[in-house]
Amino acid sequence: MVAQLIDGKAIAARLRQDLAVEVAAMTAQGHRPGLAVVLVGEDPASQVYVRNKARQTVEVGMESFEYRLPASTGQDELLALVDRLNADPAVDGILVQLPLPPQIDATTVLRAILPEKDVDGFHPTNVGLVATGAGGIVPCTPLGSMMLIETVRRDLAGLNAVVIGRSNIVGKPMVQLLLAAGCTVTVAHSKTVDLPGLCRRADILVAAVGRPEMVRGDWVKPGAIVIDVGINRVTGADGKSRLVGDVAFAEAQAVAGAITPVPGGVGPMTIACLLHNTVKAAAVRRSLVPA
Ligand code: NDP
Repeated sequence: MVAQLIDGKAIAARLRQDLAVEVAAMTAQGHRPGLAVVLVGEDPASQVYVRNKARQTVEVGMESFEYRLPASTGQDELLALVDRLNADPAVDGILVQLPLPPQIDATTVLRAILPEKDVDGFHPTNVGLVATGAGGIVPCTPLGSMMLIETVRRDLAGLNAVVIGRSNIVGKPMVQLLLAAGCTVTVAHSKTVDLPGLCRRADILVAAVGRPEMVRGDWVKPGAIVIDVGINRVTGADGKSRLVGDVAFAEAQAVAGAITPVPGGVGPMTIACLLHNTVKAAAVRRSLVPA
């Protein structure tokens, strides 16, 4: 059996088309949703992310506000910008690109963003709302991963899910979403004993580790849905660099029921979900502020 390929690139493109329709309707009603992206310093990977985010924001018809600050920017200066964006009615979503330079405390900055404009879903208010099932903005990568899973199977109740990774931005929120969908969830991490045995019981296996091709084919339960969040750059035997996930794709594809590729799986969904969160934030703010 060869697993169904979950085409994140195509699914993200459809999501962006739907968003463009919503954005056009909101714009016609008098408010074009806007996303502000703040980049401090010149980290090459961050520059690529910020460029892609800005391009896709404009492509769906939203307003894109880009702030590129020098690596020497102080914390107070960044906090002052966040305050201005919090108060700016044209800005519905604020994203401060991580990592930040060492003189800036990321936690302090992320907590300064108004929760209703926190389209990354990292503010403790949103973390709490999501964890208690009371709404809130869901972090983009887990949200996109759930959307991909739901293209394969809508009703997840009763399934065993294993999430490898317990970071605040991927692993933990992924656990909350799978729990809310009725899965029995196990969270694995670097201290987990017998990870292969644990993974073999998973109907849904989410790998968010950052270790190239760690999950082997014989860790995968036949027919499982495998979501590979990992993005790792490796150099092949030919000396060329390429991206691989946390899952040994060819091995796993021979066993799984459905699997995401890297690249072209979770990655494109992450930016599409950022736009989705911004449109949702704009809609919520409009419903609160009388026109
Ligand atoms: P972190 O480094 O914050 O977390 C990695 C997690 O993996 C930790 O919980 C760690 O455990 C666990 N881990 C490390 N080694 C092992 C091991 N040998 N066995 C089991 N668990 C292990 O990473 P992120 O969550 O930020 O990102 C994970 C991956 O996802 C990265 O490759 C990143 O590039 C990618 N990513 C992709 C995105 C996308 O859009 N597709 C977006 C965000 C991230 P412990 O807690 O015990 O240290």
